[in-house]
Amino acid sequence: MFGPPGSGKGTYASRLSEELTIPHISTGELVREEIRNQTETGREIESYSKSGRLVPDEVIGKLLENRISQADCAKGFILDGFPRTVTQAEVLERISGPDVVVNLDVPDDVILERLSTRQTCGKCGAIYNERSLKSKAAGICDKCGGQLRKRDDDQPSVINERLKVYAVQTQPLLNYYHKKGIVRNLVNKEASAPPDKVVREILRILKAEQHV
Ligand code: ADP
Ligand code: ZN
Repeated sequence: MFGPPGSGKGTYASRLSEELTIPHISTGELVREEIRNQTETGREIESYSKSGRLVPDEVIGKLLENRISQADCAKGFILDGFPRTVTQAEVLERISGPDVVVNLDVPDDVILERLSTRQTCGKCGAIYNERSLKSKAAGICDKCGGQLRKRDDDQPSVINERLKVYAVQTQPLLNYYHKKGIVRNLVNKEASAPPDKVVREILRILKAEQHV
């Protein structure tokens, strides 16, 4: 799943993962887990994540390789938030290059609206939205009962930094995948498009091309 922060990568990937029964791997979630658990890596990368900058390629590459080497990934997986640089894409090619890159094309005003109202479960990472994707009980995760909170990097100044980082470091990577002919664009201009509708559209594309 490719696209700017707030384009819906995590929301769609988590639903696709249930539909296809393959794991959803969010490198942002791997990063937050390291920080929560206060591991050595967590302490090393906390300042990057809090300020909206990319974690160094070697560190994120190791986290990803560890995750992919687990048994549940043998039949495939959905990546959300990786790769974000050409160096990372090359790391991925050495393990297993993507079959298809779903590019979520979402305008900046929609992104700002979504991120400023996003809530995340502090325990399991599930994603909600105060306006468009509410939890059943206010402030509590439907899935695990954990507390919902605003992510540290969902503050306006950090959101702007993340959008800049995306434009400069990540978006150029799309060209790398265009050259391989595996990019499928999904245009989504509404802030509150129902996720199920988008997920059905992604599944339609994947099935039409016999990826699933
Ligand atoms: P979003 O896509 O909403 O910006 P993520 O949850 O995917 O957020 O990522 C949060 C943060 O984790 C990033 O801003 C960055 O600091 C770090 N991160 C996640 N994935 C990567 C990656 N592939 N390379 C470098 N840093 C990453
Ligand atoms: Zn939860």
